[in-house]
Amino acid sequence: MIRLYDTMTREKREFVPADPERITMYVCGPTVYGRAHIGNARPAVVFDTLARLIRHEFGASSLIYARNITDVEDKILASAEKEGVDPSVITERYERFYVEDMGALGVQPPDLAPHATQEIAEMIAMIERLIELGNAYEAEGHVLFSVPSDPDYGSLSKRDREAMVAGARVEVAPYKRDPADFVLWKPSAEGVVGWDSPWGRGRPGWHIECSAMIRAHLGETIDIHGGGIDLIFPHHENEIAQSRCAHGGLPLARFWVHNGFVDMGSEKMSKSLGNIVTVEDLLKKESRPEIFRFALLSAHYRQPLSWTDSLVAQSKATLNGLYRKIGDVESGEPDELVLDALRDDLNTPLAIARLAKVNDPGTLKASAGLLGLLSDTESSWFGRTLSVGLAAEVDVAVKLEAKVIRGETYIRQKIVERTQAKKNRDFATADRIRDELKAEGIQLLDRADGTTDWERL
Ligand SMILES: [Zn+2]
Repeated sequence: MIRLYDTMTREKREFVPADPERITMYVCGPTVYGRAHIGNARPAVVFDTLARLIRHEFGASSLIYARNITDVEDKILASAEKEGVDPSVITERYERFYVEDMGALGVQPPDLAPHATQEIAEMIAMIERLIELGNAYEAEGHVLFSVPSDPDYGSLSKRDREAMVAGARVEVAPYKRDPADFVLWKPSAEGVVGWDSPWGRGRPGWHIECSAMIRAHLGETIDIHGGGIDLIFPHHENEIAQSRCAHGGLPLARFWVHNGFVDMGSEKMSKSLGNIVTVEDLLKKESRPEIFRFALLSAHYRQPLSWTDSLVAQSKATLNGLYRKIGDVESGEPDELVLDALRDDLNTPLAIARLAKVNDPGTLKASAGLLGLLSDTESSWFGRTLSVGLAAEVDVAVKLEAKVIRGETYIRQKIVERTQAKKNRDFATADRIRDELKAEGIQLLDRADGTTDWERL
């Protein structure tokens, strides 16, 4: 039994999916106009771990996990204008980087990665429905959601009306009937990306994108909706209002799951403070991105996580210890205590503490695998094809050779070959094997009685 903390009800509840053979999970994905920082990586890793747990508990094909790509947004348009290129140049570039960076952190591609620009018809249909029902109105080429038309608005964030109006960071817009109303559709000026609609040429607001894509790919009510805690208001509140009103009051999600912030020790990580740590920066310094995954999972997902050098160093030391323990073994069955920790609202710090007490190498390997750790990752994300739903498939077989992480089996094989070469007094071959491994970040530890151990540099 999995228990999850639901932000809507503010309690930990047993997770009972509507259909255990078709569990649906949607996580708000990236707006692709810049490199992902470690705070952006946290939800990707957290929900990847939750997906692994659900698949373990309910079966490998039980889950449909969708994570969208926001590829139309004003920040994208601003970047494209600055570089003097088409917006698609920006979005394709940064989507590719995102997939690479998350892949390096052991994040498996979601089952569906719908792109906003390919789902405009769905969004227009939903906006038309909201206008028909009296929940939205057209004004000066814009379509706005009427917040006063939804008496349940605010149920997720539990904010009162004044706090919502203040928090919505509303621009003074004469066409709004109520200051809390938010944009579903806005006009596009000449030369700006746009689509024909019943309200003229324009583009969608951000919130409608998720509501329309969830409906199109997963249904009116899904099992789990996830994202960072900063999305609770206004983004998720607005998604809920749009979907619930369009679907006759049906709830959008049965569980709302939110992860906490990543901060930089004493200060919050933010672009304005200039202390953003991108995944790219981290990968330049460390050939083993698994360490960063471990570090991200070392705190409970709902707690804030302080990203410090000592956290990274500690994660590396713990991982090395675990690697020494597993040796060259086949994966067995996961440890029940590790599983129980994960089943209890994805308690990864407790699961990691319990990993340290698992002595059987096969059990340890299987248990760590639930966290996406200690697995032979060399083939798991290299050259995968990502399904993008309705559209054609995007080939993400990017040049990742430099980042290939050799698995335990490969390294053990090389140690055997090198020992044999030494026995044959073929020291040139023995040295070559050592140097090749070193170039891949693997240090063999020679002892008087031979090489039995190694560590990742
Ligand atoms: Zn969303």
